[in-house]
Amino acid sequence: MFAKLMSRERNQTPKADILAIDDTPENLALLSQMLTEKGYKVRSVTKGSTALRGAKAAPPDLILLDVKMPEMNGYEVCRYLKADERTRNIPVIFISALGDVFDKVKAFQAGGVDYITKPFQVEEVLARLDTHLTIRNLQLKLQAQNTQLQQEIAEKTAAEDKFAKAFRSCPNPIAIATYESGHLLEVNKSFLQMSGYSEAEVIGKDISQYYSFSASEKYDQVLQKCQTENFVRNQELEFQSKSGQIKTILLSLELIELGGTKCTLQIMNDITERKRLENEFISLVSHELRTPMTSTIGALDLLNSGQLGTLSDRGQQILKVAIRNIERLIRLVNDILDLERIKSGKITIEPVNCDLVPLLIQATETMQAMAEKAQVQVLLEPSTVSLRLDPDRMLQTLTNLLSNGIKFTEPGGIVKLKASVNGDRCQITVQDTGRGIPEDKLESIFERFHQVDASDSRSKGGTGLGLAICRHIVERHNGKIWVESVLGKGSTFYISLPLN
Ligand code: ADP
Repeated sequence: MFAKLMSRERNQTPKADILAIDDTPENLALLSQMLTEKGYKVRSVTKGSTALRGAKAAPPDLILLDVKMPEMNGYEVCRYLKADERTRNIPVIFISALGDVFDKVKAFQAGGVDYITKPFQVEEVLARLDTHLTIRNLQLKLQAQNTQLQQEIAEKTAAEDKFAKAFRSCPNPIAIATYESGHLLEVNKSFLQMSGYSEAEVIGKDISQYYSFSASEKYDQVLQKCQTENFVRNQELEFQSKSGQIKTILLSLELIELGGTKCTLQIMNDITERKRLENEFISLVSHELRTPMTSTIGALDLLNSGQLGTLSDRGQQILKVAIRNIERLIRLVNDILDLERIKSGKITIEPVNCDLVPLLIQATETMQAMAEKAQVQVLLEPSTVSLRLDPDRMLQTLTNLLSNGIKFTEPGGIVKLKASVNGDRCQITVQDTGRGIPEDKLESIFERFHQVDASDSRSKGGTGLGLAICRHIVERHNGKIWVESVLGKGSTFYISLPLN
């Protein structure tokens, strides 16, 4: 049974590789047997020079080294071992015989870690071996961890270097600000160029103050989105430079951590010039289109009047389609020009003291014919409010919202126009019982050419510009416009305006 156990122990992977050096073969045999039985792999040599060669060729985990040997004594062998890179870190335990002149100090100075005395006490030898092998293993582990750590530090430093270079030389304006308070920690040269400020003027300031008033709400939404998704890409915002110039930028945000503080990395793309060219192009094309379209509708009207002869029924039908299409194109061109003029400030908002009730009545009366045709009832719930606004532009906004309400409501439905005072603000609502708007479109429909359904422009005669115009007009009044909706039940558009 004992022999079986022993052989099993021998077949297992050895606990450690031991090199034993002693000029007395009996000693070596004893050591070797003792250690092999305990699961160690033992290499035995009787000469220092052979031991050195063996240790270099296949470094053992630990060396047991006799002090007294002819040719080269233990201290010398140990010094050679410690002088060589390959064997330097192998723990050496000296073996001394009772009665030998053993110089412990010399042994430790030569690089030994411990000593054992002959005749061997099995338990003592094993205990010392075990201790030094454990220390050695821990040292190796520590070394490996250190190497890994150093590698990680080197990689991190290289990554930081790369980031710093990209940050400094990037043509896009970049800023790093704390997430909570928005305080600017770092900005690059392009940011300073775009903003017109010096570094000293912006560091420590709240970055949100550089986004223009109308963009502040959108900026808050972008921050919130960044909180849940960690990054946000290409959000169009307006940025105000030191000289007061409004720049259109595409903002991308990324959440990062700097020294334990949650921060935002804000990368901007200044598209002001691109936008200007785009708008100029659109308005140029629109102007060019308007004249021929006006004369075309004149010609079609003339045909329709019958003054040039009577058309067949089929001809009448085709003429009606042509008139409907050309009218839609004229609306589109007019809306494009209108939006461009409002945005560029060519149309000024001229607020005057105004009673809201007559304005609301005028808006419902204007839409009455359309409502009757669509068999939709328009109701008015006015409230006596007086505030400063541009009546023509507000009328344009209200009729646009009413017209949408009527357009997207089935016959028999209701569109309600209501005004109320809420604290220091006036709230106007246009509520319909129509098809509703999907949640993911509640924001985007206020952007130009955004429609819930691509077929809306064809089937409902719209241009996708009405709400963009409304939003610009309302924001020019320092107000807010938004929509809430339940699919299949209806939508409510809100306009909130300051009373003073
Ligand atoms: P349009 O000229 O197409 O009506 P708008 O900018 O006024 O352009 O509206 C954009 C889109 O928003 C519409 O095409 C429609 O898809 C959606 N929409 C606007 N108002 C309503 C409403 N009251 N009910 C349902 N959808 C609406």
